[in-house]
Amino acid sequence: MARVAFIGLGNMGGGMAANLAKKGHDVRAFDLSADALARAEAAGCLAANDASAAIAGAEAIVTMLPAGTHVESVYTDAVFGSAAPTAILIDCSTIDVATAKRVAEAALAKGLTAVDAPVSGGIGAANAGTLTFMVGGSAEGFARAEPFLADMGKAVIHAGASGAGQAAKICNNMLLGVTMAGTCEAFLLAEKLGLDAQKFYDIASVSSGQSWSMTSYCPVPGVGPDTPADHDYQGGFAAALMLKDLRLAMAAAEDSGASTPMGAKARGLYERLAEQGQGGLDFSALIRMLRG
Ligand code: NAD
Repeated sequence: MARVAFIGLGNMGGGMAANLAKKGHDVRAFDLSADALARAEAAGCLAANDASAAIAGAEAIVTMLPAGTHVESVYTDAVFGSAAPTAILIDCSTIDVATAKRVAEAALAKGLTAVDAPVSGGIGAANAGTLTFMVGGSAEGFARAEPFLADMGKAVIHAGASGAGQAAKICNNMLLGVTMAGTCEAFLLAEKLGLDAQKFYDIASVSSGQSWSMTSYCPVPGVGPDTPADHDYQGGFAAALMLKDLRLAMAAAEDSGASTPMGAKARGLYERLAEQGQGGLDFSALIRMLRG
């Protein structure tokens, strides 16, 4: 078992660090929040006084931070100065592709190996150790990061070179945002046309309109498997986080010259939902806004 530094012990990082400790790793944890740090300590991690203290002597350095600016500043202020030359740097945050690439290049210039490894799966999967990791980096970086990621998840996939993990994450979530918006619209049109929601679900889930948003995450209460819609849209994947991912996807589309009109439309819908103070609800709550 290894010494692991874990920086960023929030909703996601808290459970992930706890799972590494459960697997027997010596986890040195740091977060700016004293409460988050205390929870990590209770879950079997050792609380460090600052990020540099957590990082010194670690074989793997995992970060799970809100956005690219946080990742870049933790790397610049602490990781680059304190990481052992043999450490593998693993950023699991969802951040923009450009920052992910820049951080990996800066690491390489200092003789360090870094991978981007964003996750699919929410807080429940982080706590249960059933996340999916999509990894960007060299084959060597992937091979070194994989055992640590496997201790926190159910699937670890090498997406390609640096930034490819983030690219996979935002493309997947853009598709999810679009299919959820389309699924909500289809249920509302079916309702206006007098079609029973359960009947429409039974048909569309075995027809060409089928998608994960329809079959596994139905936005209509009482239809399909148990989803946040059955719990007044509490829990699940917050609309504010879907909006964050759609904004990242639209920024990447602009940078790369990709045409993504449906992604832009979905971002606009989630912006409206957030402006109405509903950003904390599950992203399938879009159906309530569209119903009006
Ligand atoms: P969070 O806000 O709950 O946690 C982030 C933590 O980072 C906080 O505890 C904060 O105090 C800490 N932090 C910020 N700056 C720091 C610094 N300089 N040094 C040390 N700690 C610092 O966020 P979260 O929900 O855990 O999400 C983390 C990342 O995972 C985000 O990039 C998010 O987009 C992504 N993500 C979240 C979910 C989800 O369902 N919550 C799902 C998939 C991906």
